[in-house]
Amino acid sequence: MLSPEEARGRVLEAVSAVVEEGCAVVEAAGRVLARPAVAVEAGPPYDASEMDGFAVRAADVEAASEAAPVELRVVLDLPAGRAPSAAIGAGQAARIMTGGNVPQGADAIVPRERAREGRERVTVLAPASPGAHIRRRGEDFGPGDALLPAGAVVGPGGLALLISGGLERVAVRRRPVVAVLSTGDEVRYPGEPLAPGQIRNSNNAMISALIAREGATPLDLGIVGDDRRAIEAKVAEALEAADAVVTTGGVSVGDHDFTKEAFAAAGVQLGFWKVAMKPGKPFAFGVRGSRAAFGLPGNPASAFVTFVLLVAPALRKMLGRGDVAPAEVPVVLDEPVRPDSERRAYLRARVRFGDDGRLRARLAGSQRAGAIGPLARANALAIVPPGRQALAAGEVVKAHLLEPPEAA
Ligand code: AMP
Ligand code: MG
Repeated sequence: MLSPEEARGRVLEAVSAVVEEGCAVVEAAGRVLARPAVAVEAGPPYDASEMDGFAVRAADVEAASEAAPVELRVVLDLPAGRAPSAAIGAGQAARIMTGGNVPQGADAIVPRERAREGRERVTVLAPASPGAHIRRRGEDFGPGDALLPAGAVVGPGGLALLISGGLERVAVRRRPVVAVLSTGDEVRYPGEPLAPGQIRNSNNAMISALIAREGATPLDLGIVGDDRRAIEAKVAEALEAADAVVTTGGVSVGDHDFTKEAFAAAGVQLGFWKVAMKPGKPFAFGVRGSRAAFGLPGNPASAFVTFVLLVAPALRKMLGRGDVAPAEVPVVLDEPVRPDSERRAYLRARVRFGDDGRLRARLAGSQRAGAIGPLARANALAIVPPGRQALAAGEVVKAHLLEPPEAA
């Protein structure tokens, strides 16, 4: 049986980045850059004051103090947004506000708090060193400088950077469309009455949310019963309409588990089936041309964990992201655990920062594959190596963070 890393390696080998498209920078939040973003304008665009005060020549106020104040003539008034109409000379100053354009001749700002303002004069009470409180034109970046690399996800700060660099459009990866399909005769839509033996379709919404979180676009294809031909038809439809399809259920060895056969009948070349992990052993992956098919187990926790470990990295590669594998961090177990598994276990856990600054993990509840409460509470998957029957409190294991840890 493949290890989760081997399985992920196979998946990543089989998928490639989708094409790029143009995007207005103001709409680029959450998008992945397809090419490095390069500044076309300098940041800041002009020498700007960081304080409300007076633009001066540092040499003029070198020796200024409360005891020996220096008086300068105020020749300009420079609120933000006004271009200086003249340079300042020796013995002169400009009133300037935060964001004001520092005039030629000035090389320091004296904050208002260190001056006494007269009508056309200012008395400076403290020295200012050259460059004080001035953000120089191009100090952050100049035209031609790299702002963000290809593969970067544009966050709020990145958005501000691209806009400041004068960009109006950027090349990003198209959002891959990922079809979502539940299988199972017992699975019912939210809002439908539940007859005995029936269960709510929680997987489609959960998987769609996981897909959207990666920056791809979910396409909900609903539910299909345990019928090989019906599943085949839906999978074929999915592979026409989408870059990938994620199914849940019917991928094990039950009498009515038809997902693998349906994949094959829909022209999917099966890459592998079964991964040495718990939950999530039955997992099928294959490709049809450039399109990928992921057959996840039906139990919500199994579907969630296999998505995080095997599907999300594939979507990141399709999006051209630099970082594809889920990051691992060390966590200290706060309680003993008995994973009792021959396969590597991914425990739904709650992690928080301890007083010592280290991350500490507790189980989020039952580790049964069908237990949804613990899944909802978990902010991490604690990883237990295969064959470990019991781990003591205080042992350190690796974990994948699903959400930021709780504060101490
Ligand atoms: P399966 O993988 O088809 O054997 O399903 C495993 C378990 O997951 C069964 O108890 C199913 O009822 C349950 N299950 C399957 N599909 C869904 C779904 N879409 N939402 C919630 N539970 C499901
Ligand atoms: Mg089923």
